[in-house]
Parts: sequence; structure tokens; C-alpha cells
Amino acid sequence: MAESVYMDNNATTCLRREVLEEMMPYFTDIFGNGSSKFYETGRKAQNAIYEARRKVAELIGASVNEVYFTASGCESDNWAIKGVASAYKDKGNHIITSSIEHHAVLSSCEYLEKHGFEVTYLPVDENGRVDPDDVRSAITDKTILISIMTVNNEIGTIQPIKEIAGIAKEKKVIFHTDAVQAGGHMPLDVKELGVDMMSLSAHKFHGPKGVGMLYIRNGVKTDNLIHGGGQERGKRAATENTAGIVGFASALEIAVRDMDKNTEKMRMMRDRLINGIKERIPYCRLNGPSGDLRLCNNVNFSFRYIEGESILMLLDMKGICASSGSACASGSLDPSHVLLAIGLPHEIAHGSLRLSVSEFTTDEEVDYVLEVLPPIIQRLRDMSPLYENIEK
Ligand SMILES: *Cc1c(COP(=O)(O)O)cnc(C)c1O
Repeated sequence: MAESVYMDNNATTCLRREVLEEMMPYFTDIFGNGSSKFYETGRKAQNAIYEARRKVAELIGASVNEVYFTASGCESDNWAIKGVASAYKDKGNHIITSSIEHHAVLSSCEYLEKHGFEVTYLPVDENGRVDPDDVRSAITDKTILISIMTVNNEIGTIQPIKEIAGIAKEKKVIFHTDAVQAGGHMPLDVKELGVDMMSLSAHKFHGPKGVGMLYIRNGVKTDNLIHGGGQERGKRAATENTAGIVGFASALEIAVRDMDKNTEKMRMMRDRLINGIKERIPYCRLNGPSGDLRLCNNVNFSFRYIEGESILMLLDMKGICASSGSACASGSLDPSHVLLAIGLPHEIAHGSLRLSVSEFTTDEEVDYVLEVLPPIIQRLRDMSPLYENIEK
């Protein structure tokens, strides 16, 4: 077994070797600027970017001129939300989203609230699912945008995106989905799903960090977030990240090619972790749905009477990389907004652990986690006064 066991693939994934090899020439020999078409190294970069865009378009069922590369999933989400809000402000000022979106979406919406927009944050059920009927009843004649994530990054809930997209279309409201966590793990055909905009990020499917994509259906207007040169059809300035874009396309191509085989493998490891934890550890709760309604690689548990942070520290000492539901990106001690939204009380939300596998995870690593985790939980509970009362 490797030195460390990486079980945090919902945070980021390792870069695939073959992808790195595809990218390498664009760091070295072919370093030209994709906008410099009067000499060969520039033309080669331009061609590589075009080829990557064509490939990504084909993989998501879009046209080549509907694919825009960005610098991250966060940027794609920010652009979709602020860009549409700005372009359609004369039509209305109302946006609908869910209470369990990624902070890239939630904070963009909060920013817009400070600038005259009104946002409805829809509740979710105990498994984190948005009810399409709630979306329908939240729509007013001022609604210009609906943004609901395809898959939740903390608890793995898969949303009824196609149904919600249908409602948005019927009501003539633009529909964006943050599909960052779904990318490479689920078929994502924009025409089949019926979405108007979709965000992806390469580092969640074994591509490089720092490159994202926004699908914008032809006919949807968006104001620029980044002004400057004429790159990305004049909609997103900045010299193209040639190597990153090549890596994005290569990683997505491989993920889609091997999707059936790899997601089946991940699903088996996920379920072995879920069932193994339930069997071995009392007073635990699986957060998020089970079976086909759950992302193939995500496991999220709350363990009563203890703190998620302490679990992570002890797991780290055993070489296991995982993530907690309570540690939010800002480093504050607030429990996860997702766990609160599915109805967990603060004290239970605090004791949460997310484990997420990839196709590179091995069965031995799953066994190791199942062996190491129960004594860690027991050790922490033995130190907890709350637990002492329960045991009596
Ligand atoms: C990781 C993630 C993002 C952010 O993507 P970055 O490329 O890291 O900026 C956005 N939304 C979801 C659901 C994510 O999981």
C-alpha cells in the first residue's frame, strides 16, 4: 500500500500520467501565444486549443462555439451567475438557487443581493434533494436565472436536473448547473439534460488544476467577468492556458471513455465503505442518499458525540487523507451549510467525515480505512463527556 491513502477525491484528484504527457509539449516546445497566428508556435497553440474545444464540445453534446475555457470551476460559476444577472437586469432581478450549492454559487448570489437582486434559496429534503415543484412555485415574472448543482460535493446527492431544466425552459428562464462534481462521473449531455449553462473543472476528473469550462448555449447572453483581449470569442479575456486546456480535454475524454468501468468500481468501494462503517461503528448516520441517487465516489457520515476535526487529525496520523463536513473553506468553526440544510443539529453536523474514492483507490486501501476508523472513533468517544452519559 502507498505511504498515504488518499480518500479526498471530491476535493481534488491526482493528475493522470497520460494527461500530463499530452500537456507537456505546451509547457516547453510549443509555448507560443494562441493569439499569435503569424508564426508556427502560435499557430500550433491555436490549433491545440481548437482541437481541445472541439473534443470537449463533442463530449458534452455542444457546438464548438458554445464551449468557453476559464481558470476554474469557481470562475465558471461566478461568470454564469453574475454574467446573466448583469445581461438580463432589465428583464428582472430574481434568481433561484438551492441552499446546498457550492460557495462559488452561494457567495455570487449573496454578492448580487447587495446590488439589488433578490435570491430564493430553496430548501432540500433530508437527503439533500431539491423538489422540482419548489422550483416551479418559486418562479415569478422577475425570475431571470435558476442555478442548481448537478451533484452535491459534500453528500453526493444527484439532483433531478433534467426535470428542473424542463421547468425552466417552459417558463423561459435561463438554467445553469454547477456540474463540477459530476464531471467525468456521470454522462453530461447538455442537449439531453436541457441545460443552458454548465460549469466543469478539470481537477475533479484527473485533469490539471486551474482550468475550468463554462458551456453557454448559443442565444444565452452573458456579460463579461474578465475584460481585456478578444480570447474566447471576446467573452473572456486572458492568454489561453494552452497546456491546461489540452489537459482538460484529454482528462475528460479518458473519463468519458472509461466511465462505465470506473464508476462501477468506485460504486463498489463506496458501498463497501458505507456498509463497513455502519456495521462497525454505533451511533453513526449516513448523510445523503444511497444507491443510484448518490454520486459513485462519495461517502459522508456523522458520528455522534465527537468532532470531525479530531477524526481528521487521527486519520492523518495513520496516513489517511479525508475531509470533514464541519471544516469550511474559510477555516471558521461553523458546521457545513449542507449538513444544516438537510436538518442535522449543530452538534451532529460537527462530527462529520467525508471519504471520497477514485478509480485509483484500491480494495486494500478501503480495508485499511475500515480497520483504522472504528478505534479512532472509539478513542475520541472515550474522551467525550457526552458519550460517557450515553454509555451509562
Ligand atoms: C470543486 C468544486 C467547485 C470549484 O471548482 P474549482 O475549480 O476548485 O474552483 C465548484 N463547485 C463544486 C460542486 C465543486 O465540487
